[in-house]
Amino acid sequence: MTDAIRDRLHLVRQRIARAARASGRDPADVKLIAVSKTKPASMVREAFEAGQRAFGENYAQELLEKAAELGDLVGLEWHFIGHLQSNKARQVVKVAHVVHTVDSAPLAREIGKRAAQGGASCAVLVEVNVGREPQKFGVLPEDMEAVVAAVESQPALVLRGLMTVPPADGDSAAQVFAALATLRTVLGGPSRLPELSMGMSGDLESAVAAGATMVRIGSAIFGER
Ligand SMILES: *Cc1c(COP(=O)(O)O)cnc(C)c1O
Repeated sequence: MTDAIRDRLHLVRQRIARAARASGRDPADVKLIAVSKTKPASMVREAFEAGQRAFGENYAQELLEKAAELGDLVGLEWHFIGHLQSNKARQVVKVAHVVHTVDSAPLAREIGKRAAQGGASCAVLVEVNVGREPQKFGVLPEDMEAVVAAVESQPALVLRGLMTVPPADGDSAAQVFAALATLRTVLGGPSRLPELSMGMSGDLESAVAAGATMVRIGSAIFGER
């Protein structure tokens, strides 16, 4: 089991490095976030022992349970990548280093308020529904500036960038990644929005080619869910 996770992590890191070099980028500029949702804390521990530090979780309750169970792992960094309900914000900002999924001004204000109350700051990304899918979370491109500005107006939040999840059909992923990069340029470029969180197990190469600085990889590391 340990070897399987270690080996798969190695393969994923190789894929990232190859994709980065193929587009003239430094592999060190692409952060691997190992998405451990639905997988037991013991697998997170194995990945940590294999050198992985950043982990992504989608569900508040699951994140809190794993964070408590793995509290002894110094340097482990939690990324919240699921839809965040306002009533969970207080607990999530306590453990998450980065929240990838801020998609409204009210949610930005809630997270900002809760982070301030906890005396901490929280790094956030704005989730964009680039593919304009009605069933999907994320702010529509035309409403992005307002959400970005809402994050910037919260003293306890640190605006880090943009995040997207492409349509599940897979066909349009490359266009969606390119579109997110363009939206970043329109909103002020990397000086305002240094991170682009995009790319999953099946499409990390095209995300890295389009400029991803964070890829969120689950099944390629931990196996199918
Ligand atoms: C589950 C999930 C991932 C990881 O997906 P894989 O296809 O397993 O790599 C990445 N991002 C988000 C938002 C997810 O929900």
